[in-house]
Parts: sequence; structure tokens; C-alpha cells
Amino acid sequence: MTYTAPRGTRDILPEETPLWQFVEQKAREVFQLYNFHEIRTPIFEHTELFQRGIGADTDIIAKEMYTFQDRKGRSLTLRPEGTAAVVRAYLESNRHKQEPLSKLWYQGAMFRYERPQAGRYRQFYQIGCEVFGRGGAYQDAEVIATAQQLFAAAGLQNLEVQVNSVGCPVCRPRLKEKIQSFLGANLAQLCGDCRTRFGSNPLRVLDCKNPRCNEFLVGLPDLTDALCADCRTHFQSVHDYLDALQLKFQVNPRLVRGLDYYTKTVFEVLSGQLGAQNAVCGGGRYDNLVEELGGPALPAVGFAFGLERAVMLLQGQGAAVPGTLPYIFLLPLGAQADAQAVLLTAQLRRAGVPTEIDLADRGLAAKLKTASKLQARYVYIIGDNELHEKCGQLKDMRSGGQEKIGLAELAEIVAAKHREKN
Ligand SMILES: [Zn+2]
Ligand SMILES: [Zn+2]
Repeated sequence: MTYTAPRGTRDILPEETPLWQFVEQKAREVFQLYNFHEIRTPIFEHTELFQRGIGADTDIIAKEMYTFQDRKGRSLTLRPEGTAAVVRAYLESNRHKQEPLSKLWYQGAMFRYERPQAGRYRQFYQIGCEVFGRGGAYQDAEVIATAQQLFAAAGLQNLEVQVNSVGCPVCRPRLKEKIQSFLGANLAQLCGDCRTRFGSNPLRVLDCKNPRCNEFLVGLPDLTDALCADCRTHFQSVHDYLDALQLKFQVNPRLVRGLDYYTKTVFEVLSGQLGAQNAVCGGGRYDNLVEELGGPALPAVGFAFGLERAVMLLQGQGAAVPGTLPYIFLLPLGAQADAQAVLLTAQLRRAGVPTEIDLADRGLAAKLKTASKLQARYVYIIGDNELHEKCGQLKDMRSGGQEKIGLAELAEIVAAKHREKN
């Protein structure tokens, strides 16, 4: 009997992990540049937190959560996204009382019971950040700049930043009305999801993936006219700060984000070759969520991105990151040589040299073949007759050159070569 990974999950195998680590590393570096600090929250939370924080009429809450009861009958849910938990932790740790501005970033696995499809998994990985405490447009622009720099640092090509404003509780009703009156005549032609959203959240029709729904959006009037004075000033101010940060962007009036909690600014970073632009990251301002989750009325802004998508786009560009390779591979031939090689392996590793050893009972040719398959930089061959001289042959696998090196000197000499390389 053998087992397979549960439907909708997958293993990230050693061939792929170096590229994942590379993206994670770039994220960590860029967050540091912008003075963000990492926070780690539990993988599961009380179900109500997500019901409250994400919005009851979203697909996530309606049908995608992994919800279970623990042994005491409490309803818990595997986190479907990162923001609600970070807000909860931010409030629970009283940071809002200690610092006027908190800049937090996170990474980890998220869980949604979705129909598995290419690049979409039920356990997926996100990296994101949240800034609490500042309502000004500068913070929106800075968060957008963080995202842009992160993907630029990771080497994603043809980056484009798109921004929009989805208004606030004051003007949102006017935005909704405008969409409803524009689409009203064609309501019956929209897809089932859109007909449901039409009444409660018609903005969501704008990002329906159904091409037929998209046709009915052609000619949609500019919604920024419906924004209140405060939202319009804020949006203009975001433009000005993005200009000041020398960041190119496009206004996309159809850009809305899937989650209901956004206020004012929303944005996406897209990447791709001509004709196939993919959103790699999305975010925005959510000025009411902290209060909604039981905290004071504190503004917030953030973004999140899926590592699967980012890695896939990088692979599509032909990006590859080499995995870690052994620097030296010890090839003892015979029982006495084996004992010496074990000792040397320990010395080399303690000296900081990535080392592998082949203790299999087989000939030199077979051992050399393995070493070259593992792309070892050097091999050290110890034969029984060389043992009398207390030395072995150090072979440079790149040049093919070979020199005799004493057992006692090996670790020091190879460690020096390795340091030089790094
Ligand atoms: Zn407004
Ligand atoms: Zn639709």
C-alpha cells in the first residue's frame, strides 16, 4: 500500500525549493529595506475571526474554509489568508498602544477548499505585509513601492503596477449604484455569481473572470466621479507620492479586489510577457478592519502574494537557481580508507565546507560518476596504498587536475579554497 498527497496539495521537491528560497530571501531583504518586521501567527484561528474579518458573502467564507471542531467543540479554521490573523495578533499584543506605526510582514501556508486547477492548490503559500496606524496616502504609495521592489529584486520581468480606488463607506453606495444602473438592463445575462453579487456587492462584477460578464462592462463610466471628496483627494495624493517615489503606474478603473474589506486604494502588480499579463500580487487599504475585529478605529494598508504564482512566473522566464552542491566528495577505497574518510568528513564539515562521502563498496569509476552527477567541485580519493603515505589525491572536477594532499592538511587546504570561492 502506498499513499499519495491529499487532493489539491503537493510536495515542493528539492529541484524546486531553491527557487522558492530565492523568492523568500528577496522578500525578506526588501521588507528589511522598508523597515518591516516579521510576525508568525498560528495556522488555525477561531472561525469567527475569519467570518468577521473576510466578509460573509465572499467565496472564501461561503465554501472554501477548512473548518473543524476540536475536542472541546470549539470551531476552528485553518487560515485561508493572512490579514485577519495579523490584525488579531497586532491587537492582542497591544502594539497599537505602544507604537504609532506598525509594519509587519508574514509568510506561510494558507488553506482553501477550492477546486484544484493548474497552479492552484488547497494548501498554498503566501507572503504579505500590513501597515497599521497611518491613514495618509504616503503609506499606500510606500506599500506599493515595497511590492514593486520585491518583485523587481526577484527578477520578474515586465512589471506593471495598477492602482484604483474603491471608495469608502461614505461614497461606496454611490459607486455601487453607478454599476447597478449601468448593468441593470443586462442583469439576466450575467453569470450566476454576478447575479448574486449584483445586489450585495456589485463591484465584484468588475473582476468576474467570465468573459461574457466582461463584455457587458464595456463602456462602464469612470467610477472615480462617484468618489467622495476625501477619497478623491486621497487617490490623487497616492498618485503624487508614487511619482515622488519614481514608480511608474497605471490607473485601472476596473480594478477591485476580491475581498470586501478594502477602502480607498487597491492595487495589483502584474508581470508577464506581451499579451499575457498576470497579477502576481494584490493589496490595498482597509481602514475599517481593525475596528471590525474589535480594535480601535485604526487605518491599515497591506498586500499579499502567492509564492506558487511568483515561482511559476519566474520558471516561465527561464529563471533557475542552483541548489546546494557538495564542495568536496570523499571517495575512500577499502576499509581502512573508509575510517580515515569518516574522520576527514567530520573535520571538513566543522570547517564549514559542504561535504559528502561515498562509503559504498564499489570501484573508483562508479564513485567518480556519482561525484560528477552531484556536481562536486572536488573529490578526494583515498586508496589503501596511499594510506601508507598518509595522503590522498585531490581532484579538481572542473579542470581535471589532480594533486597529492596529506590527510592532515586536507581540511585546512580545502576550507581555504572554499572561503576564497565565497
Ligand atoms: Zn469616500
Ligand atoms: Zn460574472
